[in-house]
Amino acid sequence: MDLPDFSQFEPFLMLRRKMGAQRLGSFEFFDPKLHLTAQERLVLLRQGILLPVTALRKLTDATIAFKNARVLVWPETDALTTVYHLSWCDQFPVDARLRAGVQIGRLANARVCQACLDLLQYEGHNSHRHRHDAYYEKVRAEFDVRAFFGRYPHYPVK
Ligand SMILES: [Zn+2]
Repeated sequence: MDLPDFSQFEPFLMLRRKMGAQRLGSFEFFDPKLHLTAQERLVLLRQGILLPVTALRKLTDATIAFKNARVLVWPETDALTTVYHLSWCDQFPVDARLRAGVQIGRLANARVCQACLDLLQYEGHNSHRHRHDAYYEKVRAEFDVRAFFGRYPHYPVK
């Protein structure tokens, strides 16, 4: 949709001067196909959202996005341990029922995916180099979802 260009419209320019506004600012149209709704944001923060794999995309840093949010993904299974993924690694469970979210607190025996840590070289993680196995085990054991989202912000992403 093309809107008229009001950037040189004198009544608005006058109003801007009156308000002391220096810059025009910017805004993005809300598109529910591309942008999270308030409800989706809430559900992501709580239990996570069940999604088909086609609703997810790989960001340039190999992490995973649902619409304009970076998410963790795990398979919805009865397994005793739930492995959650940070990235589109070679172990990504493309054929499973997937849930995307930002919290793992509700997951039974949640374990971060080792292949994801390798792919992202998280804290230098490289499970193919066995010389530092003890260190890599520590990285996995101490992996913290909040620290991850501190480095790779959850929302918004382009
Ligand atoms: Zn993974």
